[in-house]
Amino acid sequence: PEGFRSGFVALIGRPNVGKSTLLNRLVGEKVAITSPVAQTTRNRLRAILTTPGAQLVLLDTPGIHKPHHLLGERLVKTARTAIGDVDVVLLLVDGSEPAGRGDAFIVELLRFSRAPVLVALNKSDLVDPDRALELEDSYRELLVLSDQRADPADPGQRRSDWPLLACSASTGAGCPELVEALAARLPLGPHLYPPDAVSDQPEQLLLAELIREQVLTLTREEVPHSVAVQVERIVEDGKRIAVLATVLVERSSQKGILIGK
Ligand code: GDP
Ligand code: MG
Repeated sequence: PEGFRSGFVALIGRPNVGKSTLLNRLVGEKVAITSPVAQTTRNRLRAILTTPGAQLVLLDTPGIHKPHHLLGERLVKTARTAIGDVDVVLLLVDGSEPAGRGDAFIVELLRFSRAPVLVALNKSDLVDPDRALELEDSYRELLVLSDQRADPADPGQRRSDWPLLACSASTGAGCPELVEALAARLPLGPHLYPPDAVSDQPEQLLLAELIREQVLTLTREEVPHSVAVQVERIVEDGKRIAVLATVLVERSSQKGILIGK
């Protein structure tokens, strides 16, 4: 269609800020699993959101941790190329908490992004209206400080120009505005996927992820993240659908934790 926009949006943020929850909210279907445990996201998933005016291909990424070593040129270079492929970067932060060092680290990485950056302050539903301004200011200040510390010879993007938008992936508040702001920054272009697609992953993989999510939810610490799920068969009898899957663990001692004695 005339004036249609399409492109790639990278979701970047610390673990647990709500990247996967937001993805599900935006596409209106469960395509990414979420959990209160950090490091849930394993596969690089593309979720697809089609509106009358645009198609956004959203890339869920595992959260970025600030590494304790490996800082410096090499890492920055890697980040530069990883972020180089998308049309818009959505930096998601936990807006129910003041900006912290983890956020500062990501801001530094994103300063070399070629694509425009938008900052979403997620979890607005947890924010007491009296504190909203103060919290938002802490993020604004972070961006300003980052500009001030920039190397004049290679300053990167002006961080203090990045728009801040509050939203809640849980309630959906602020999400339509967020989609509009993202879509406006995409280039003109055709549909990249069929208009009714919500994910680039096959159904089997999505089902396997739903089962893995339950394992994470029900076991927490005991079986950390050494679980993989493989869907073997999907049987439909017209009324119900049965999914037969194998849950793989790393050590046999973990079997008991999952299936009992
Ligand atoms: P990710 O690691 O960034 O992908 O984070 P997840 O999407 O897995 O979410 C981490 C936790 O934060 C989960 O327990 C979510 O339910 C919760 N969460 C995500 N978004 C919101 C939000 O907008 N409001 C509230 N109250 N909780 C949220
Ligand atoms: Mg995630």
